Amino acid sequence: MNRADQKMQEYLDKHPFLQETAAVQQGMAQAVHNVAGPVEFPAQDEIKALTQTGIPLLQNKEIQEKISAAAVSFLPPVLMELLGVAVPEALAAALQRFAKWAGEQEPDKRRELIRLVITQDDENLNAFLQAESLQGAVVRAVIWQIVDALVPAKLKNHEFWQKLGWVRNYCPVCGRQAIMAHLRKEKEGRARFLVCDGCHTEWPFARVGCVYCGNEDLTKMHILEPEGQSAIRLDVCDECHAYLKTYNEEGEEGIYLQDWATLHFDMLGEEQNFIKKGSVLLESK
Ligand SMILES: [Zn+2]
Ligand SMILES: [Zn+2]
Repeated sequence: MNRADQKMQEYLDKHPFLQETAAVQQGMAQAVHNVAGPVEFPAQDEIKALTQTGIPLLQNKEIQEKISAAAVSFLPPVLMELLGVAVPEALAAALQRFAKWAGEQEPDKRRELIRLVITQDDENLNAFLQAESLQGAVVRAVIWQIVDALVPAKLKNHEFWQKLGWVRNYCPVCGRQAIMAHLRKEKEGRARFLVCDGCHTEWPFARVGCVYCGNEDLTKMHILEPEGQSAIRLDVCDECHAYLKTYNEEGEEGIYLQDWATLHFDMLGEEQNFIKKGSVLLESK
């Protein structure tokens, strides 16, 4: 077991209520990565030019076509692999239905589904899912897992985007809004980075203010701190009523920047009726 796996195991021993979720999440991620691997992206200079005007890479026509083509061909074998993962009954049934569907469709139909997910076209996606009797959360989770596997690790690194100067409130790779934030120690104090739940890219963003609505009035922002826990806090916006889980420390990113491993912190926000954003399981708007 490597150091990161060992840390996760210790964490799960301390949080036994996460063990089932961990088995499902890790099992599914592993299965997807067994089948799908990174595709080639343009070089850094070209990426810099492509993203300068604020268009995320996957919303660039050529790159989107390349990613879609890879996802279209990986979808059926990934789903077959996923059927081998031990998951709760309802999820197993939804995966089985999705695998059967993917095996029967023409590539064009799969391509259409993947396009709707990648472009986050919720309205048309929901109509499509309904017409095909597919379960939305499962379809979104599987397709984003595939996209995650197709994006090279280099492009997910916060330093890459820091160098390129991307400081927008959406993911430079896929365009999703952030699921979590990370406060890192930098030379001059602390800097905030955002994390994508779709492709797991991390990128820099302004240290203060709401990442979702742009509210910068600090009298309309507050912090919820879980009792006896310093690793995670919730930044809450009174303007748009969203909360953002923020990892305050360093060294355990593999745990604390995973939405599923920090699900118990969401309760703090949900109890007070604040909204969660950025999850692949949810609609994007
Ligand atoms: Zn992303
Ligand atoms: Zn806000």
